[in-house]
Amino acid sequence: MVILVSACLLGLPTRYDGGHSCHTGVMSLSKKHLLIPVCPEQLGGLPTPRPPCERAGGLVLDQAGTDKTAAFVSGAEAAMKIYKLCGCEAAVLKARSPSCGKGLVYDGSFSGKLTNGNGVFSDLLEKNACPVYTEDEIDMLLQTLKEDGSPG
Ligand code: SF4
Repeated sequence: MVILVSACLLGLPTRYDGGHSCHTGVMSLSKKHLLIPVCPEQLGGLPTPRPPCERAGGLVLDQAGTDKTAAFVSGAEAAMKIYKLCGCEAAVLKARSPSCGKGLVYDGSFSGKLTNGNGVFSDLLEKNACPVYTEDEIDMLLQTLKEDGSPG
């Protein structure tokens, strides 16, 4: 199976602070699956390191209130193209990120508070009916693969 993965979960230094979020459970998927690392924020032309951003209503803002929505949207569209070009069948994305988060994201107050919602790329994947999992849902993904008869 071809799975698109948030690049930071595979140990690549794509995070806003120049670090990564390497996750051993996600890394282990590479034993049986082809993983395609993607960072929508870098694809949107944002630098690394970069100021952290949060979703605020329909916008994505940095802490100074600068509107970064256009870069997040173009990065999500580029990442979606990679998903389709590579024949991906699912995505495993970093939880809580304003691009990659699924179900819960930071609420725009830069105070660590979470609110219901998706990151911009995760939203686009869901609109295109692409299955999205976070690194906290690896077990769910493996179970689904097992039920489908795919190598887990
Ligand atoms: Fe990781 Fe996604 Fe943030 Fe890029 S945009 S650093 S892949 S969480």
